[in-house]
Amino acid sequence: MAVRPRVDPLEAALHEFSRQLGAQLASGIEQGLRSALSGSGLGLPVEVSQPAPAASPCRVPGCQREAISKGLCQNHYQKARRLEMRLDGLSHQQLEALAQDRRALRGRR
Ligand SMILES: [Zn+2]
Repeated sequence: MAVRPRVDPLEAALHEFSRQLGAQLASGIEQGLRSALSGSGLGLPVEVSQPAPAASPCRVPGCQREAISKGLCQNHYQKARRLEMRLDGLSHQQLEALAQDRRALRGRR
């Protein structure tokens, strides 16, 4: 029993139509996804409202200030220079000393 290929012209036209529609839909979706992924799209977390931190924080433990030079904030930078520390190679102990110094200043207030 041979299977006769159905060559219904209407069905063939519908099939072709849906095939083209599918292709167009797919390319449309693809373009939408691309524009969304490239940045200016949907609810993707784009960091616009948050300005990137220009400088890294101070290296002194517990200090929240922004580092201005040598990884130290203005406060600790001047303090380290006053204490004649080598700013390029601050040891952990020196950083700790700077931190304690600041805490003492805080307590005095
Ligand atoms: Zn600091």
